[in-house]
This record gives sequence, C-alpha cells and structure tokens, in this order.
Amino acid sequence: MRAMVLSEQRRPLTERRVDDPAPGEGQVLVRVLACGVCRTDLHVVDGDLPDPKLPLIPGHQIVGLVEGTGPGAERFAVGDRVGIPWLGWTDGECRYCRSGRENLCERAKFTGYDLDGGYAELTVADERYCFPIPDGFPDLQAAPLLCAGLIGYRSLRLTGDPERLGLYGFGASAHIICQLAVHQGRRVFAFTREGDAEGQRFALELGAEWAGAAGDPEVGGLDAAILFAPAGELVPEALRAVAPGGTVVCAGIHMSDIPSFPYEILWGERTLRSVANLTRLDGEEFLALAPQVPVRTQVQVYRLEEADSALDDLRHGRVRGAAVLSVAGRPEAPPARGEGEEEAEWQM
Ligand SMILES: [Zn+2]
Ligand SMILES: [Zn+2]
Repeated sequence: MRAMVLSEQRRPLTERRVDDPAPGEGQVLVRVLACGVCRTDLHVVDGDLPDPKLPLIPGHQIVGLVEGTGPGAERFAVGDRVGIPWLGWTDGECRYCRSGRENLCERAKFTGYDLDGGYAELTVADERYCFPIPDGFPDLQAAPLLCAGLIGYRSLRLTGDPERLGLYGFGASAHIICQLAVHQGRRVFAFTREGDAEGQRFALELGAEWAGAAGDPEVGGLDAAILFAPAGELVPEALRAVAPGGTVVCAGIHMSDIPSFPYEILWGERTLRSVANLTRLDGEEFLALAPQVPVRTQVQVYRLEEADSALDDLRHGRVRGAAVLSVAGRPEAPPARGEGEEEAEWQM
C-alpha cells in the first residue's frame, strides 16, 4: 500500500510503498477513505511529543470501510464505515481504566503515535475503539469529528454549563465546538490572533456573538474558556477574562510554557485544568450529538501525498476549518485540490 511515513522527527514525511497491514486478534482491516490532519500530528512530526513509534504512519482521524477482520473481531461487518480515533488501546485494568478514566490509562496506545495511523491506504485498529460514523456525514466532513470534534466535546463538557464561553484559537476544534455550543444556547466569544479578520469573520458566521483578539478588554466576565491554541501566554489572558467561579480548559496535548501570573487572577475559585485524550464514552456522546446540531465541518482537502503541505499549512495558520487528506476518493467526495488552498465547503 501507499503510505506517508515519518522516519525521524523534525524531518518531512516520505511517500513509500509498505506491506499491507494484517488484522490481528480483535482488529479490523480498514480501507482509508479520509484522514483528518490534527495539530497533534504536527507536534509528533515537529518533535514536541517525545518517543513516537518509528517509522510511523501518522493520522488519528480516520474514516474508512472495513475490508477484513482478524480472529475474534465480530463488531463490524465487511463494508461498514467506521471511524478510528486517537485512543487506540487501553489495558482495561489500571486504576484509571477501572474508574471510567481510560483517557488516562497508564499503558494506553494512541493511533498515529504508538500505533500506525491513517496517512495510508490501509490501516488496522482494535474494533473496540472504533466508532460507527453517523449517516449524513460525507467521508471528508466526518474525519475532523474524530479528534477536533471529540477532544473539543470533552473540553466543552469539562467547562461545566457556561452561558458565556470563550474560545481561544479558532481552528478545526473551535469551528466544531462553536456550532455545538451555540446549538446548546451558549453565547460564544471567539479569540483569534490579532488582525485575523478572516478568522473572526469565520467565527461570526458560525454563530459566535463576538470575535476579536485575545486580551481585548471589551470581553470579560466569561463563565468558561477553552484554549485550543497551544500558546501558554494565553492562560493568564483567559484567567483574566473569566469571572469568579469560572473554568479555563487547556485542550491541547502540548503547550508552550505558561508565564507566571499573580494569584489574584486565579483567586475567586477559578479553575485551570487540562484535557487529556478521550474516552469511548466521549466519542459515543459526541457522535450522537453532531447530527442533531447538525455540525457542518469546513474542510481543506489534500491528497495523501500532500500530507506535508497540509502539515505546513497548519503550522503557519493557513487552514480555515480542518485539513483532511482524501485517500481513496469516493464518487461523492469533492475532488482533491492541487494547491490545497481552496476550501471545500460542505453544503447539506
Ligand atoms: Zn488502563
Ligand atoms: Zn488530534
């Protein structure tokens, strides 16, 4: 099969022919249709996250069709459309797994990090961690739901029940969670890079009540904020913007150092917390909610061999919505675009 392979961190991916994977015990063999490109992939490639499996096929927002099953795998039939997320395996027996916190499993294995992922024509996955994809979401538009959507959903859930919600960084995750939060009747305030008029317009189109630069004194008294941008200097900004009792959730897996800040901006029972990974329950809940909103993901489409350009566009903030690799284009999939710069907007 064709695959985009990371041989060494801080090096570009290379297109290679590798052996087709064979499904092991409890695994499904999946023909990849689309794979979302996540900021976490960038952290793996750029060396911000240590010790990936090498060589590695990245990618953990995989939509594909079951093409075969290993011994004992009975959950899905050949031809079923499934999604494969970041959480690829847990031991089921550590103190976290036994208390409904498999996202913190001490021996967890993650797709596209410890396990080969979806920047390839085929992949294998433990069937217990796959999700059925709701009907009505085309392959390319479904892919970003699997991490941008799931992690965003977990982050939103952990903010409590905010009326006024701030979103810092308006990328793949925020563009999905903004729609869900507005659907739930929340007032969304979107913070982007200073001068990012296009990003601010995008947030307003998706239902945000206000969009502007982080630190704008016009906005304060938020009930909660989610930081999707991996910039530590936003933590004090967000703490200043939330009211007493408010929560700031850091949604990313990696963040630059947080500058020191005066205790008074945490005082008043403000909570600062991170979100790590996802549980299968998060996935089931979010994938049931997404069609009700309905969430419409906006995707920038690349061909499999353009994975490096997709990562580079993400690195430089040139992606509006979510970047997705179209791996085995099906007839209903929009054509891949050579430059990877035009948007394919999903019109339902
Ligand atoms: Zn465990
Ligand atoms: Zn991700």
